[in-house]
Amino acid sequence: MNGLRYYNAMSSIKDKKGQTVSWINQLKSTFVAKAKVSLPTPFLMQVAQLEVHVTRKPIKHLHLRLVPPTGVVQVSAPIHLSDERIRAAVLARLDWIKEKQTAFAQRPQASVREYITGETHYYLGSPYRLQVVSGKAKQQIMICGDVLQMHVLAQTTAEKRAALMNTFYRDTLKAMMPDLLAKWQPIMGVRANDWGIKAMKTRWGSCNTRDKRIWMSLMLAKVPPECIEYVLVHELAHLIEANHSPRFHALMTQFLPHWAELKQKLNQSARSELML
Ligand SMILES: [Zn+2]
Repeated sequence: MNGLRYYNAMSSIKDKKGQTVSWINQLKSTFVAKAKVSLPTPFLMQVAQLEVHVTRKPIKHLHLRLVPPTGVVQVSAPIHLSDERIRAAVLARLDWIKEKQTAFAQRPQASVREYITGETHYYLGSPYRLQVVSGKAKQQIMICGDVLQMHVLAQTTAEKRAALMNTFYRDTLKAMMPDLLAKWQPIMGVRANDWGIKAMKTRWGSCNTRDKRIWMSLMLAKVPPECIEYVLVHELAHLIEANHSPRFHALMTQFLPHWAELKQKLNQSARSELML
């Protein structure tokens, strides 16, 4: 395609109101959208028994912060800074981190969420800073680096924002479940007739063995993916053995040898994440 035809093709794009969008704006928005998608995703780094959540960003200097309520360590690092340099930067501040985490532990916990800019919300095991963007655009949530961007209408309530977040969690789990079931059902030799996602206050999952229906908690969208997998394997195992008997635990060990470790990780996540 030559330059002129490209120009003509782009200039004929119209937005939802039927207005012609200038081709340069269209290109710009495409570029911005792509840039957001290609930002590296956060990852976990183990430093001297500390789990450090690292996000690489187009920034000049490394930033380290502690996320309430337990003081989880979150690092924003320049794109090309090596893992070794990040590790060294965390180690250099180890005493300070330990001191702050002790202070966090002694502080009363605030559990009321208002879904406003600056709050920390967990998604698939990583903390994200919430940024609420008001406007006329479609209501949706986007992940940009370690920022969870919530696009809402100007006059929105905390309840509506909470509902939008829950929809985001539900969509995430709904998208993950088919692959997880396709992986585990053949391995375990069982088949659930139906599954669903719902808000559950006291459980991570449940299994109706008679109807062979599995429910997964909406809050699982906050915990690491391997913990979501653990909950599903647990519920599928109930299709073989209904009770938490020695046979049940033997099945868990057979299918997921490190299940106890994952269970512990899940409970740890609940303490540091759901209490926020
Ligand atoms: Zn169970």
